[in-house]
Amino acid sequence: MSGFISTDRRQSWGRVTRPTQKVAKPHFPDEVPPLVGEAVRGSTPLLAVGLMRSYGDSNLNPGGAVVDMTALDRIHAFDPRSGVLRADAGLSLDALIRTTLPHRLFPAVVPGTRFVTLGGAVGNDVHGKNHHRSGSFGNHVRKLGLRRSDGSLHELGPDDSTGLFAATIGGLGLTGLVEWVELELTRIDGSSIDGETVPFHSLEEFFALSDESIASHEFTVSWIDCTRVEGTAMRGLFSRGNWSRDPARLPHPAKPKAGIPIEFPSFALNPLSLRLFNDLYFRLGRWRAGRSLTHYAPFFFPLDSIMNWNRLYGRPGMYQYQCVVPPTDSLPVIAELLQTIAASGEGSFLAVLKTFGDRASPGMLSFPREGTTLALDFRNRGTETLALMARLDEIVLAAGGRLYPAKDGRMSARLFQNGYPRLAEFTPHVDPHFSSAFWRRVAP
Ligand SMILES: Cc1cc2nc3c(=O)[nH]c(=O)nc-3n(C[C@H](O)[C@H](O)[C@H](O)COP(=O)(O)OP(=O)(O)OC[C@H]3O[C@@H](n4cnc5c(N)ncnc54)[C@H](O)[C@@H]3O)c2cc1C
Repeated sequence: MSGFISTDRRQSWGRVTRPTQKVAKPHFPDEVPPLVGEAVRGSTPLLAVGLMRSYGDSNLNPGGAVVDMTALDRIHAFDPRSGVLRADAGLSLDALIRTTLPHRLFPAVVPGTRFVTLGGAVGNDVHGKNHHRSGSFGNHVRKLGLRRSDGSLHELGPDDSTGLFAATIGGLGLTGLVEWVELELTRIDGSSIDGETVPFHSLEEFFALSDESIASHEFTVSWIDCTRVEGTAMRGLFSRGNWSRDPARLPHPAKPKAGIPIEFPSFALNPLSLRLFNDLYFRLGRWRAGRSLTHYAPFFFPLDSIMNWNRLYGRPGMYQYQCVVPPTDSLPVIAELLQTIAASGEGSFLAVLKTFGDRASPGMLSFPREGTTLALDFRNRGTETLALMARLDEIVLAAGGRLYPAKDGRMSARLFQNGYPRLAEFTPHVDPHFSSAFWRRVAP
């Protein structure tokens, strides 16, 4: 009997497309090899997926098959003394933190949502607010188990000399199916962050705050109002913090109850409502500015309190654009990108700016590199939105930067191939039976 059922309802976080693909959701590890075998026999391109928090098409496989790993979420081993945890790749960071927090242990790197799986965090080698200190997620992976389409299972760690480990970290699920991950956690005293918010009024101020905070703060990130930019003048909120020494451990939050129950009508989001939202957000942030003791959940995962917030963008969905540009020209390049966006009248609720440090990512295709990263959402208005992003692409390309595949749904092969110099080293490690919509668009 087939383990795959046909469906056309699976979407990525951006919700732009709704492709038809076969889906299987194994509940026991021994179901995985037969599923892989079935796809191989049927010559169906295969892809493992997690909680579908990637925005574009790197977790979609139209016409192919996906293995939803989220029911494979068992913890194999957890030693609070060594701080090492091994679990199925479908375990979410949400569930992981719930287990490890009582032991004062936390993942060393977390992205802006806790609803991602270990497999997804490996597949995109995700980064957090502490990149300048701790690098990316892959820097903290001790081992992983990779199932290839020939049935073989590889136990791989950073000492792997074949290159398969480095290809799998940030490898977009293309090297095979990650069955389990062993992670080194970080020790914390309690569940709070000593945070501080500093309003700023220009890009120069942003970079000065960044430089100043790198030595003193483990976490940094900034929100900017991308609807009001003049030259390098703009307003933003620089947020920085450190794990507090306060030993109190407030519990891990439950799954959010508040949510967006319906798709918003397209007219609700327009240049005026975006300007108003950004204005309000800045004023509120400026009013609350200063130091505060914050639970880690709103600090790391602010959007997680609203379930399905992506429905705000209505039925056409949204694109996210995240680039990183090298440090040498970061200021003029970020200024040019922001001016282009502001002039277009398009913009985002949440535009995020952050500097990445120089710690090398372990993956051949890992996104983070030293420089400045800008991330923002654009509602999908079809060709107009695509044309705006194409203009941004040219700026990123000329600056020698790159886009983040986890957020992308439309970058050209030229931009991808230029941005990832280790692509030629990566390609031989792609499993011949694994693929994705993203890969079919950008592969050399
Ligand atoms: C609100 C929000 C905030 C975010 N903030 C950040 C951030 O700060 N930093 C950041 O880096 N990212 C961020 N992201 C993106 C998100 O962290 C990544 O897209 C993450 O990889 C999603 O994990 P997932 O479990 O949903 O995986 P999916 O999106 O389902 O898959 C991601 C990739 O991993 C592969 N994959 C998944 N499971 C496996 C497996 N078991 N074996 C092999 N391959 C697998 C898939 O094929 C795909 O290529 C954010 C996303 C959202 C929605």
